[in-house]
Amino acid sequence: MSRVPKVAYFCMEYGLSADLPIYAGGLGVLAGDILKTAYDTKLPLIGIGILWENGYTTQVISPDNWPEDRPQKVDKKYLTDTGKQIKVTITGHDVHCKIWLCDAFNNAPLYLLEPLDMRGSFESLYCGSEEDRVKQEMVLGIGGVRALKALGIRPDLYHFNEGHAVLAGIELISEKMEAGMSFEEAWEKTKDEIVFTTHTPVMAGNESHPRELFMHLGANRLLTSEQLALIGGSPFNMTVAGLRLSHAANGVSAMHATTARVMWQDIKDSAPILSITNGVHRGTWQNPDIYRAYLSKGDLWSEHQKAKLRLFEEVRRQTALSLDPDVLTIGFARRAAPYKRSDLIFQRPEVIEPLLNGGSLQIIFSGKAHPYDYAGKEIISTLVKYSKTHPGRVVFLENYNIDIAKLMVQGVDVWLNNPKRPLEASATSGMKAAMNGVINFSILDGWWPEACRHQINGWQIGGGYQGPEQNYYDLVSLYDVLIEEVLPTYYERKHQWVRMMEESIKMSEAFTAERMLYEYYNLLYYPSLTAINVKAKNLSVLQEV
Ligand SMILES: *Cc1c(COP(=O)(O)O)cnc(C)c1O
Repeated sequence: MSRVPKVAYFCMEYGLSADLPIYAGGLGVLAGDILKTAYDTKLPLIGIGILWENGYTTQVISPDNWPEDRPQKVDKKYLTDTGKQIKVTITGHDVHCKIWLCDAFNNAPLYLLEPLDMRGSFESLYCGSEEDRVKQEMVLGIGGVRALKALGIRPDLYHFNEGHAVLAGIELISEKMEAGMSFEEAWEKTKDEIVFTTHTPVMAGNESHPRELFMHLGANRLLTSEQLALIGGSPFNMTVAGLRLSHAANGVSAMHATTARVMWQDIKDSAPILSITNGVHRGTWQNPDIYRAYLSKGDLWSEHQKAKLRLFEEVRRQTALSLDPDVLTIGFARRAAPYKRSDLIFQRPEVIEPLLNGGSLQIIFSGKAHPYDYAGKEIISTLVKYSKTHPGRVVFLENYNIDIAKLMVQGVDVWLNNPKRPLEASATSGMKAAMNGVINFSILDGWWPEACRHQINGWQIGGGYQGPEQNYYDLVSLYDVLIEEVLPTYYERKHQWVRMMEESIKMSEAFTAERMLYEYYNLLYYPSLTAINVKAKNLSVLQEV
């Protein structure tokens, strides 16, 4: 009998459905896709997360072109009350948390903690003060470990998706210290139980907090301030802690793993950083009619046009504008972060205006800015203003979510991504586009260097250049490829276009969440269990593995 490791997956956000809006973006959608894939493949993985009272943010565009946040209560109709509660002690006060189960979306079980006390600190995902953030991480980490116990679940491994969950490691160490182990011994033993995924290739994006704050809130549990520093440094860095609390870690694309290894090379006692490229859940993202047409060598183009019309219907619903289904349509949807350079394509009006005004190009944008991110809101506002000055040519769809993403990655012709290299850890929306025959047109960053065969299954921008004047290089390359290759292929060589769509779908088979999850099991989970068993010298169990 083979033994499959039972894994508790910890994440701050889960994107399972637009109807349960407890996600902000790629991290959550990835976590949601993993749970759906575990369900499909019957792998014993369960999720641990937080039930945010107001989810993330519902963001609509005001008449003066500004993204405004409208708090909306998350509907609990997709959740089941387990009847169980746990508590986490924060600044000496007990915060009781209800445990909800979500299994309504053909997903592996997801247990969500709903704090019943200090509710003001748990209103919305990634919102609140720094102190609130640590409280949230205490509920996820410390509360998560306790919730598993309360539910009678004994995982073989804890998988921390990003640094938000690392306080679960502090809890696991403290439990062992309570049972009489020394700190050092408890830390070593705990490492055996933890694997860690890092997502952030920018130093500033890796969250850290003063140790004093941890001590004040009780996030240290039984550890002294000095012991905290041994794990996370000072200030306490959540990624450093993840790397030192785990025995194996991974980056989310080959390029990102390389970047991460260099970033963290000076961290003593760090887990090795492997590369496991993200993937996406086909059942969620791939249009079955498009895939069927691809498999049967049927009329892929007409299925694509149908998806395009469905997207244009949403455009009409939101904006009352009609787009032309025979015009090359570029899609660009992502979180508003400066490195993503959402408005790069507009930088030289003398190049882009004639294409838009002359009727050979349409662009559909979508995206949200973090509620506190003024610069991000400026980016959104700029895009909205372009849509106002180019009615029917440039469109901005408000309140980007899983439903809008689905329409866009199935219904545009080209998926544009032009981040500043090497700041995109993976990017998964391009994988969703590819599996629908939507052709990627992207900087060689994140997942794209692994997938791109220029002019065969997509187009690269910028030739991997990284250096001074990168904006200028990338912009020239973007226009060059757009004008010399993308537009002529679309308008003059439809046959080649459809071949590229087919190649795109074929290539996307390597970027499914199923492949990703098997890599997690084969490269992170099974080896961990084997190593633990070898350490325990329990050869009968080892043979089962
Ligand atoms: C896929 C997805 C993302 C992540 O896309 P990136 O390409 O990584 O930016 C973000 N938000 C939603 C709603 C998605 O569906």
